[in-house]
This record gives sequence, structure tokens and C-alpha cells, in this order.
Amino acid sequence: MQVYGLLGNPVGHSLSPRIHQAAYREFGMDACYATFEPEPADLEAAIEGARALGIRGLNVTIPFKRDAISFVELDELADRIGAVNTIDFDGDRPTGHNTDAIGARRALEHHDVTLDGARAVLVGAGGAGRAIAFALSDAGATVNIANRTESRARNLATEVPNATGHGLSDLTDLLTNAEVLVNATSVGMDEDDSPVPAETLHRDLTVMDIVYHPLRTRLLRDAADRDATTIDGGWMLLYQAVAAFERWTGQEAPVDAMNDALRAEIE
Ligand code: NAP
Repeated sequence: MQVYGLLGNPVGHSLSPRIHQAAYREFGMDACYATFEPEPADLEAAIEGARALGIRGLNVTIPFKRDAISFVELDELADRIGAVNTIDFDGDRPTGHNTDAIGARRALEHHDVTLDGARAVLVGAGGAGRAIAFALSDAGATVNIANRTESRARNLATEVPNATGHGLSDLTDLLTNAEVLVNATSVGMDEDDSPVPAETLHRDLTVMDIVYHPLRTRLLRDAADRDATTIDGGWMLLYQAVAAFERWTGQEAPVDAMNDALRAEIE
């Protein structure tokens, strides 16, 4: 049996096992996806132990995405982002990748959003925001990053090509001419709140919220009320798993089956 899994702490509520196991079922693979909660001090031992046991691949989540970079060989994107959410054991040394960035880009592309030449506004400069900033920039967008702690947005913008950093008070100006808005803050998670004033949203915007609990966040409802295109947080979650599956197996993922399994849990 091929074993895959997730390293994090806590991991009890993760949707990843369901998404990946749907793919194994769809392809009739003799494989399973388990969750592991090592102590932070044991992270290196956990990764080395997984390699020694022949585990094929691991996803990595909070609080290990940054620390894991010390124990794997980073690909170029994960190196720039400075975080790993996928480890591949197919080689002499475990390699580290960032499929959060790939997932965000593929979620937008799935909805026919053209990023090359687009003016994008990214709200949030935390871990997910960092990955998405590089993804948008790599795809050819101009990335205006707005964050509650303005210095964090400014610092991130110095690392990302074609990016500027701002405080949240600049959102009104930034959104006037924007085509894409991504919320990468935790605002809206388990609460009816939005990081973006509703009156700044307009019909020429595509709005992606990466918060997926709830799925229809206040931001997405405000955006729909103003006839903007909306993309919920399930799509990034889906496509980061799709990208991990494809890296580990070398096969095109059964996206519909994985999406059905995810939607059965979150809708
Ligand atoms: P993080 O590193 O802790 O960053 C949190 C971000 O939210 C920071 O930019 C922070 O601003 C901002 N923020 C928090 N409270 C705020 C408030 N009251 N007002 C304005 N801004 C606020 O977290 P993360 O790992 O990036 O995750 C962010 C969210 O994305 C979480 O809800 C997570 O579940 C979700 N997520 C979804 C996916 C997916 O696949 N859909 C993947 C990863 C993460 P400051 O810098 O000012 O503190």
C-alpha cells in the first residue's frame, strides 16, 4: 500500500484525507492518506522517519510550513516563498514544494481569470498571502498588497516582482481599477465580517476568498450583490491537493471526484 499523509498540529479537522482518498478510490489505487501530529521538536525526526518508512508524500500544515524548509531540498518556488506544504519522497532526499501558491493560481485559472497583465489586489500578508503574492506575480499580474499591519505588506512587496505594499485604508483607491481581488486574511472565518468595504466592490472584479469556513463569506456575498464574479475558498483547497497528488503520482488528478468529496464536507 502507498502511504501519504499530513503533518501538522492540530490536524483533526483537516479535509485533506477525504479529498485525497476520493482520488485513490476513483483510480482504484492501493493507497491511504493518514494524519500525523508530531511535537514541534520532533519535526526533523518525523520527516526522516517518513522517508525511512517509505511514505510517498506528505502535506505540511500549521505550524510546520516554515520550519519544514530546513529538512528538505526546496524547489525554486518554495524557496522564494519560504514555506513548504508538500514533501515528495521520490528521490535521494525529500524535496519541498508549495502547492498553496499553485492551488491559488489554478483556482483562478479554473474560473477563466486572466492573470497576465491583470491588476490584482491581495488583502493579507500572512503565510497564505505570501504564497499567493508570488503566485499572482509569477502569472504576470501587478500585485497591490494591503494588510492590517502595513509594514508587513510593504516588506512582502519588496520581495515580490511588480508588487506594492499598503495599509487597509488604501483599499478603496486600489480596487477602483482592479480586476482581481483575493482575500488571504482570516477575516470572515467563523464570523460574519469582511476585510473589504462592500462599497469598493464592483462588477468588473473577480473576488476570490480563501476562507472556506463558511464557504459563502460576507465578502463573497457583498461581491455577488454587486455583480462581481466570486470564487470560494474551496477551490484553492481543492487545487493545492490536486497539485500535490499530481506531483506524488505523476498522473493527472481526478479533479471532479476530489471536488465532489470536498464539497460533500463543506457545502
Ligand atoms: P496568518 O499567517 O496568521 O495570517 C493572517 C492574516 O490575516 C494576516 O495578514 C493578518 O494581518 C490578517 N488578519 C487577521 N485578523 C485580522 C483582522 N481582524 N483584520 C484585518 N486583518 C486581519 O494566516 P494564514 O495561514 O495566512 O491563513 C489566513 C486564512 O487563509 C485562514 O483563514 C486560513 O484558514 C485560510 N487558508 C485557506 C487556504 C485554502 O486552501 N483555501 C490555504 C491556506 C490558508 P496582520 O499581518 O496585520 O496580523
